[in-house]
Amino acid sequence: MRTIWSVALFSAWLGIAPAIQAAETGKTVVSFVDDDCINQTYYNWLPLAQEKGINISLAVSPTWIIGTGKPKDPTKTPMTEAQLQEMYDAGHECLSHGWDTNNTLSASMSAAQFETELKRSRDWLLLKGYTRNGCHNCWVYPQGLNGNAAEREQIKKWVGKYYSCGINACGAFFGNKAPDPYDIPRYYSDNKSLGEMKAEFDAANARKGWLIVLSHSYRAAKEGDAAWRRRYGDFIDYVKASGAVVLPFAEAKAGMERIP
Ligand SMILES: [Zn+2]
Repeated sequence: MRTIWSVALFSAWLGIAPAIQAAETGKTVVSFVDDDCINQTYYNWLPLAQEKGINISLAVSPTWIIGTGKPKDPTKTPMTEAQLQEMYDAGHECLSHGWDTNNTLSASMSAAQFETELKRSRDWLLLKGYTRNGCHNCWVYPQGLNGNAAEREQIKKWVGKYYSCGINACGAFFGNKAPDPYDIPRYYSDNKSLGEMKAEFDAANARKGWLIVLSHSYRAAKEGDAAWRRRYGDFIDYVKASGAVVLPFAEAKAGMERIP
């Protein structure tokens, strides 16, 4: 009994233990990366994640949080700094979504523009101390990674100057190691039914892969907040009942990298 306690305490202290265990035991991992930090994220994801006992990753646009930039859609209100802090303190991660997420990276951007979008947003996460498991080193492409092959390579090079990885806005699951660390696929779940989400998870689970789910929780208003929470809540229950683990992105990544 004492041994079990020690192991549990040691694992809790390590923090990254669940990810290591998942990778070592070949368990399927599911991560949620929610975009843009609109206040519905605070009202929908925070209570849902608490209820289900999971943590998620938030793609953060600093200018929206501090109020110098704003969403094009005037009905969207960004989270406050205090709300974001509360979510981080509750165990959720902050990933970088660009200094102003309205600005999609493009190969025609000037060096100064790249520096603003990439470096300033990372500096802000560092300033706020949002560095758990290296989450400040993780980039989430606003509107995805775009352009032809040569342009995409150029954009990835810029991202590589400041970040250890880049998460795209399309694609599906993959094995424990991302095929291209600067083009990590993410499953778009916004307009999907629970059945479609389960089918995507089943495919990942059959291969013991890593499914990263993209959500825009502010779109919950469209289907109704309660319905949205039920859909994601039922999905999380299904994932857990299947024996997979739910971990925030940087935590899962950090744990997997410790496996030789
Ligand atoms: Zn976004």
